[in-house]
Amino acid sequence: MAKIKVMDELLANKIAAGEVVERCASVVKELVENSIDAGSSEIKIDLLEAGTVQIKVTDNGSGMDKEDAVMAFGRHATSKLKNEDDLFHIMTLGFRGEALASIASVSEVNLKTCVQDIGTEVIIHGGKMVSVEPCEARKGTIMTIDHLFYNTPARLKHMKSLYTELASITDYVNKIALSHPEIKFVLTNNNTTLLNTDGSNNLLKTISAVYGMDIARKMVEVNIEDSDYTITGYMSLPEIHRSSRNGMVTIVNGRVVRNMDLNRVINDSYHSYKPDNRYPIVVFNIEVDPTLVDVNVHPTKMDIKFSKMEELQTLMTQMIQEQLKSRSLIPHIEVEQETIEEKPVYQEQTLDFSRVAETEDYIVIEDDVKENVPLFEPKENKEEVIEKSSNHLPELYPVGLVHGTYIICQNEKGMYMIDQHAAKERINYETFKKRLGNPNQESTPLLFPMTFEFSNQEFIILKENFEILRNMNFEVDEFGLNSIIVKAHPIWLPKGYEKDATFKIMETLLEVEKDFSIEKFNEKIATMMACKLAIKANENITELEMEQLIQDLKNCENPYNCPHGRPTIIFYSNYDLEKLFKRSGFELPKW
Ligand code: ZN
Ligand code: ZN
Repeated sequence: MAKIKVMDELLANKIAAGEVVERCASVVKELVENSIDAGSSEIKIDLLEAGTVQIKVTDNGSGMDKEDAVMAFGRHATSKLKNEDDLFHIMTLGFRGEALASIASVSEVNLKTCVQDIGTEVIIHGGKMVSVEPCEARKGTIMTIDHLFYNTPARLKHMKSLYTELASITDYVNKIALSHPEIKFVLTNNNTTLLNTDGSNNLLKTISAVYGMDIARKMVEVNIEDSDYTITGYMSLPEIHRSSRNGMVTIVNGRVVRNMDLNRVINDSYHSYKPDNRYPIVVFNIEVDPTLVDVNVHPTKMDIKFSKMEELQTLMTQMIQEQLKSRSLIPHIEVEQETIEEKPVYQEQTLDFSRVAETEDYIVIEDDVKENVPLFEPKENKEEVIEKSSNHLPELYPVGLVHGTYIICQNEKGMYMIDQHAAKERINYETFKKRLGNPNQESTPLLFPMTFEFSNQEFIILKENFEILRNMNFEVDEFGLNSIIVKAHPIWLPKGYEKDATFKIMETLLEVEKDFSIEKFNEKIATMMACKLAIKANENITELEMEQLIQDLKNCENPYNCPHGRPTIIFYSNYDLEKLFKRSGFELPKW
């Protein structure tokens, strides 16, 4: 009878393993969380073949005595009731209690653990206890999981490619390291170091270890609080953005959470400072009374609901926008010493337009994991890069125009290039937004009314939304079959483009018909009109026009990006220029 019982439990564990232990990453997650709970200050994760061959987690935590070491693999065994007030803990216990038993049932486990002098070694194969013996070990725990899923071939087949497995482990360890800057994390795969944090409790250093120093230098510190929430952490300057949302890390009361609403609020707060479909890098620690959050835990992810979401939203938006509005955000074009030095000294240096084009097409940051992460040192001219200034753009003196497209300017700090189309687009955009937001506009009556024809479906939608057009000071009416007549238009429609602009506005109305909001509509109109009326590339403007453009750009609320989030201006410091021309580091001849 006893045997059958064991069989039942084994089977139950194997079934549970399918749910709880989905992939290598879930094993790593379980082991690392155990190490954290054991009070470790150093956790090392070593993988072979992305964890499919071996996962080894070494910590310097409290360790287990013989009894606990054996008990740890019993179903529902858990020693984690220490922090009963930690909501997350209680919520995760259901899964956590059975996780080790589940892992042990589908792999070969070797546990070496030690509280004081004598350690214990526990070996389990496919859920069966092979041996429990005393051993030599230092304080802490070494858990080695070999051949995960070796006895459940179906599960093994289910695993994704090694690359995907590794990516998801790296993602997990990065995030857990960011949420615990006080713990040193080392992650290796096939003896290559993928992450090495210093455990100094300095979040910026951890960010540097995860994303590299170039990114860390472009992160700004934030903090804000109200009666319910305290937010601290770092956010990237808008010139840094990625194709995935993965860089937005939100930590609530010490735990990394995934929340779509929070991600949306963060991304929206950067609106028009960067392209909307690219995402910033942030690490935000949110402290909140646990009674204000509702946690929904699944073994592989953790979502959270805030009962005062609107308040948090407002606070977060304010925090991000305060930073964006108070900084000089001109992308600094850094010249890399190495690439320059490889070129022969006397090779003629042509102006590097590819570099400019690169900036135009958004700076792409690869999501690759970093090897040999450099140690963090704050750069000396950091102040210059992330400059805080109240009047945004510095004094700029235009010196010429390249290809009727880029205005070259200078001041004592170096050389600037302005994309004249992007700049004009920003100026127009802010002007139109102001006008669209102003309800007391006048309209221009038309001597010859304009008429527009639409498909019957479009016509129905437009007719239902006449009120929106009328509120914008269009005098509109039906005009025969599927046609609309416009007898007056708002006064601010650009001269010569009245009909074109009116048609575009109606088209936009058709586009945004689903879940219509006047802000989004105005936003679209302003962006569309701004582009339409901006100077095109390859158009030569006079020096006076350049000066006016710079002046107008200076008056913008955000002079750094066009409404699509592209940069309007880039910067080469005097130092960069000297490096490009090999002046720096060389003794200049004195004549
Ligand atoms: Zn444009
Ligand atoms: Zn644009």
